Amino acid sequence: MSRNKERGMHKVAEILRSAGIRPTAQRIAIAQYVLREADHPTAEDVKAHLDRVFPMVSTATVYNTLNALVEHGLIRAIKFPHADAAIYDQKMHHHYHFLDEPSGRLYDVDPADVQVKPQLGATCEITEVDVLIRGRLIDPGLSGPSTTVSPT
Ligand SMILES: [Zn+2]
Repeated sequence: MSRNKERGMHKVAEILRSAGIRPTAQRIAIAQYVLREADHPTAEDVKAHLDRVFPMVSTATVYNTLNALVEHGLIRAIKFPHADAAIYDQKMHHHYHFLDEPSGRLYDVDPADVQVKPQLGATCEITEVDVLIRGRLIDPGLSGPSTTVSPT
């Protein structure tokens, strides 16, 4: 294990501890991946990654840990209509998503770059607006949409 990665693991352990989650080796490995390395993974993606770096972690442990991370506000679980499984997002600030349909990859989109003006009248109170923009990258060699989502 590289020194940088080892330092990262210590930091992840601290994040878990301060969220009130006991940092076992398995939980650290799961959180390290979801919080630091992965990009909108599903639970299946997390399990597949764990099978490579930390074999013998059960699917139940993966789900329980992901649920604990969601409950403690470290990640969000988002269900999109295009996929059966929820995806996990470590970016907790409000943002939209662009789906590159050929690759299935999700990109973060700054809500300031999308104009959504619901005209629902006075009978509804809107608590949140989720937007999934579908399309394809014109040049897959380039990185995603030219929008920057600033972390809070
Ligand atoms: Zn996102």
